[in-house]
Amino acid sequence: MTDRRGFIRQGALALAGLAAFSVSCSPFGLFSSGNDFKKWIWLNPETGLSAGKWKSRFEMMKSHGIHGVLAQVYAARVALYESRNLQVGENLLETLIAAGRETGIEVHAWMWTMPNNNPFYAENHPGWFAVNGLGQPAHTHPAYVPYYKFMCPNQPEVREFLKQNVSELASYGNLAGVHLDYIRFPDVILAETLQPKYGIVQDREYPEYDYCYCEVCREQFKLKTGLDPLKEMDDPALSTEWRQFRYDSVTSLVKEVLAPEIRKAGKTVTAAVFPNWENVRQQWSQWELDAYFPMLYHSFYNKGTGWIGEQLETLTKALVKPVPVYAGLLMQALSPAQLTETIRMIREINAYGYSLFAFHGMNEAHWVVIEQH
Ligand SMILES: [Zn+2]
Repeated sequence: MTDRRGFIRQGALALAGLAAFSVSCSPFGLFSSGNDFKKWIWLNPETGLSAGKWKSRFEMMKSHGIHGVLAQVYAARVALYESRNLQVGENLLETLIAAGRETGIEVHAWMWTMPNNNPFYAENHPGWFAVNGLGQPAHTHPAYVPYYKFMCPNQPEVREFLKQNVSELASYGNLAGVHLDYIRFPDVILAETLQPKYGIVQDREYPEYDYCYCEVCREQFKLKTGLDPLKEMDDPALSTEWRQFRYDSVTSLVKEVLAPEIRKAGKTVTAAVFPNWENVRQQWSQWELDAYFPMLYHSFYNKGTGWIGEQLETLTKALVKPVPVYAGLLMQALSPAQLTETIRMIREINAYGYSLFAFHGMNEAHWVVIEQH
């Protein structure tokens, strides 16, 4: 076992060396040296708790080795921070940042990106929403669930709206970074175990789940290729170029609009991303962010925990720029024994760490494992 570990580490070092040679601007190797292993947690915070309660929660997390909290402060409708543009609830971000500062935990603002569930926008900007292959916009015909009201990543006004969102968040003092979630299209194919839940079989890409066929997207694609994907292609689902166009639509939004705006304020930019990125048009290997948190929720894909390690290694090696990749772990699908085994595996492949989904899914036994591993 020791020999095998040594061999894997040597391999990882060789890879890291190669990566450092080709991407000299990044301080990171593809894999970790072991000293910078970090533990993160996603937090869906409740409102109405006192600052003292948050501080004691953060103290508890710190004592179990948590390095950073990804706190959901915008889930496509109400901002839990001061905002000029959005409907505002409690200013929870301020409280969480203070708790982080007092306890030595990094706080990152976790925000939903493409969905927009504030009725104001459906009423006043219906043109912002993504349109499926049947011509139905996401605000009137959301796929799968009512909150799948995704906007189009190519509409200039949507880009401006999102730019303002990240700019407001990034301007918070003592905030470590902005964590982008739902930075993608709706799933054109759902994860295996979710399909029966919605009573559907997705053996190929079907137009009702395939986005975006709005005027702006079609025009931009036509400029590039001479073809209108809706009217001049027999089966757009089979077109490699059209698929790549959707990947590039999200990539350019991230690289040209969101990341620069967040970095301008001196903050890091990270994202929660899919392992099966093709199904949500999310080619994150190309984004050049500061870190990634792939949601390696094995049970969604009918896989065992070994799949988590395989995916983590494969996805890390695919990055154009080496930065830390943290394994997103679904707590409800991991017994304490499985969690222990999974973290050992993550350490064995010299990954940078893991992130727990989520704070409210943790039980006492999970916390004991986290403290020890
Ligand atoms: Zn569009």
